[in-house]
Amino acid sequence: MAFDYDLFVIGGGSGGVRAARIAAGEHGAKVALAEEYRMGGTCVIRGCVPKKLMVFASSYKTAIEDARSYGWAAEAGAFDWQAFRGKLDAELDRLEAAYRSGLKNAGVTTFDMRATVSDAHTVALADGRKVTAKHILIATGGRPAMPQAAAEAGALTSNDIFKLDALPKSVLIVGGGFIACEFACILNGLGVEVTQFYRGEQILRGFDGEARGHVAEEMRAQGVNLHVGTDVIEMKPVEGGTWVASTDGREAVYEKVVYATGRSPNTEGLGLEALGVKLGRKGEVVVDDWSQTAVPSIFAVGDVTDRINLTPVAIREGHAFADTIFGAKPTKADHELVASAVFTQPELGTIGMTEEEARDRGPIEVYTTAFRPMQTAFAGRPDRVMMKLIVCATTRRVLGCHIVAPGAGEMIQLAAIAIKMGATKEDFDRTVAVHPVMAEELVTLRKPVRTA
Ligand code: FAD
Repeated sequence: MAFDYDLFVIGGGSGGVRAARIAAGEHGAKVALAEEYRMGGTCVIRGCVPKKLMVFASSYKTAIEDARSYGWAAEAGAFDWQAFRGKLDAELDRLEAAYRSGLKNAGVTTFDMRATVSDAHTVALADGRKVTAKHILIATGGRPAMPQAAAEAGALTSNDIFKLDALPKSVLIVGGGFIACEFACILNGLGVEVTQFYRGEQILRGFDGEARGHVAEEMRAQGVNLHVGTDVIEMKPVEGGTWVASTDGREAVYEKVVYATGRSPNTEGLGLEALGVKLGRKGEVVVDDWSQTAVPSIFAVGDVTDRINLTPVAIREGHAFADTIFGAKPTKADHELVASAVFTQPELGTIGMTEEEARDRGPIEVYTTAFRPMQTAFAGRPDRVMMKLIVCATTRRVLGCHIVAPGAGEMIQLAAIAIKMGATKEDFDRTVAVHPVMAEELVTLRKPVRTA
């Protein structure tokens, strides 16, 4: 049977765009892609990129204060959100255009509209057209999930923060995951009075316990009113903001409330279940190691599969899919030892097992250090950084590395290469330090602080 396309990709985010570009540009497949919002997806339009630019914006107040300690006659004026937002919007437009031209140059046909699946080889476009494809790739990503009561009371999600007309004076952030913590730090740095509630016992669930505690302490020290074991009981819109009653007996009015309590895969209304594509408990598309669903012609990559919800992982999954199906290069995306960073202030960079995970597989040695880094100590700030290695006591391999420090995202990227290669503690030890930098501590950790 002749199809209109070799591949139809639904979703123009990190995973979908990479798969389309590789399939068409490198392997010569006839490819189409539909995107219902803006090309580039979450990462470019309402995730990693605008978030990181806000992280940069929010870091200047302390940098200016520190500059004074170093002898500069610098004074932080007011932050101009409108000016920043204008530049941010222009940068996102530029990136979106770059994504579009990348697809065009690779020969991909694009449809700026929603698409759904009507059978194993047919895609229905929002304008009523139907197109057929030998393979369909679901790369629809995810969206913020919010309790209905919060939505009814006018709470915002991370998507809305980038579009605020003005910065609020005060904000309540509900949630303890990486997105909640990053926005707490960003808004705090921009001068907003930030309160954060997380119902669990410590923020950043899933990360190393000691690192979580360290980030929480530093966030509090920087001025975030962080309350763990605390949740919203009731909230309602009132004059000047939202009135919130919480489980710790507190009642307060916040100008804005932001919910960052998790994300849901975008599978609603896609027509997948009716075709026999298996969905998981959260609505994620269930796939095998080749990103193939229960329907052989339909594949899925990225956040919609809820494996590791990070941009570089979605990109690798999309690339592996295109190489496998169109490049005669069978490739499985590798989900082992994926490094990542949380852009709190200070950042958390992490790879491999947490101490808690490694302990269960034991025996392990734990090396850890916490200290005041030179740059901020000189400026009179109390900030402390933390570095930690988890080592297998039998193979000597470094199983995990966790860093809480300014620039930890950059540091962990490099440590990740060694750890992915299977570096042992002795490999770290025989690496001569770079001096004076914070990361030299990683190669001078002499004695384990504990074994398990
Ligand atoms: P997406 O990028 O979400 O793309 C899916 C696309 O599909 C969207 O553009 C959507 O509009 C479109 N779509 C959905 N349904 C349809 C349909 N039916 N028809 C047509 N189009 C459709 N990751 C990192 O690695 N580092 C970070 O620092 C980081 N920070 C983040 C910060 C925030 C605030 C958020 C929300 C996420 C962050 N992430 C980060 C995660 C990262 O953005 C995602 O893992 C990544 O974008 C997933 O790519 P994807 O291709 O699976 O989906």
